[in-house]
Amino acid sequence: MNIYGDNGNIICLTQRCEWRGIQAKLDQVTIGQKINPDKHDIYFFGGGQDQQQIAVSSDLKETNGILLKKAAHENAVIFSVCGGYQLLGHYYQPEKGKALFGVGLLDVITVAGNKRMIGNIVIEVDKGILSTTNCELSTKMVGFENHSGKTFLGKGVKPLGKVLTGYGNNSNDKTEGAFAGTVFGCYLHGSVLPKNPHFADLLISKALQRRYGQIKLKTLDDTIEWQAHNSAIARTRSRT
Ligand code: GLN
Repeated sequence: MNIYGDNGNIICLTQRCEWRGIQAKLDQVTIGQKINPDKHDIYFFGGGQDQQQIAVSSDLKETNGILLKKAAHENAVIFSVCGGYQLLGHYYQPEKGKALFGVGLLDVITVAGNKRMIGNIVIEVDKGILSTTNCELSTKMVGFENHSGKTFLGKGVKPLGKVLTGYGNNSNDKTEGAFAGTVFGCYLHGSVLPKNPHFADLLISKALQRRYGQIKLKTLDDTIEWQAHNSAIARTRSRT
């Protein structure tokens, strides 16, 4: 799935690998195609409207949910945004119809609210997440959210961060996103990774760790990325 520029995250990850001489091979897995848990080190699961989620949820219920779980248990990185995030939880209950099957990789549930949560979002990222990448430049993440689903976290996950501006998981508890092990979910569209190079590099280093152990990534010139990051934060400040 892909909405509000989510596929830009794939371009960002492959480019940040190639700039470092790391070969990044890309496969798209769509409905009816089987995931190969041993082949890929990082998965991106984008957002989508309820209709797309219904189709993808039934595909996951077949066998791809089990295969995705196998990949995660073998420490592949799974990064999901919005609709994809919701389907990595136990279920997503849309406004109409029955609850959609969720893979259960993240201990979260999502229930559609009656109001869409739309706008720029800034979060303070969980301290433990960014420690391995250049978090001295920022401990925040910025993005754009557009969802009606309200996500509630169980004990098996930690929030990706604390909402500073915007709605986050459910516009009540000031949490945003969730993570457990090498599985991450959030509501940040945009695409989120180009404007948050520290988090993009975290995903890359975790994905490499699975086969090559702890690797210190070569530092890139992220001047433009940090300008985009900081101007997005400044924009939200000027609006509050
Ligand atoms: N359909 C889901 C919701 O409205 C997810 C939307 C999205 O992926 N942007 O909450």
